[in-house]
Amino acid sequence: MTDDEPVRDAGFDDFLDALADGEGYYVECANGHGSLPPRRVCPECGSADLTETPLPDAGEVATYTRVHVPAPSFADDAPYVTAVVDFGPVRLTGHVLADYEDVEVGMAVEPAVGETATRGERLVVFEPR
Ligand SMILES: [Zn+2]
Repeated sequence: MTDDEPVRDAGFDDFLDALADGEGYYVECANGHGSLPPRRVCPECGSADLTETPLPDAGEVATYTRVHVPAPSFADDAPYVTAVVDFGPVRLTGHVLADYEDVEVGMAVEPAVGETATRGERLVVFEPR
């Protein structure tokens, strides 16, 4: 993978389509392991018996960081805040639509789909509730 080749991932694009429609989901295996972005095989136990489960409307910021020196594909977006958001069984990484000073661990955010300023590529974003 190079910075000039957008990643084509049918599963992830399907997920973004659903999230944009307010119908985000994650996949869960028979053993209760959640995974996101959706995969064909459970990353924890290898089960291929996965069920799509609705993603909760909101999650909580687990960790976050401010990016000043981004990869080229995010050059015009910097500085920005990325966060890992905890949705219970799954965690999702994306850009937070808020100033760094206004973000804190435990903050409730709602997932949505945005576009990068640099290339107009879709990505997961989090809006403070
Ligand atoms: Zn599993």
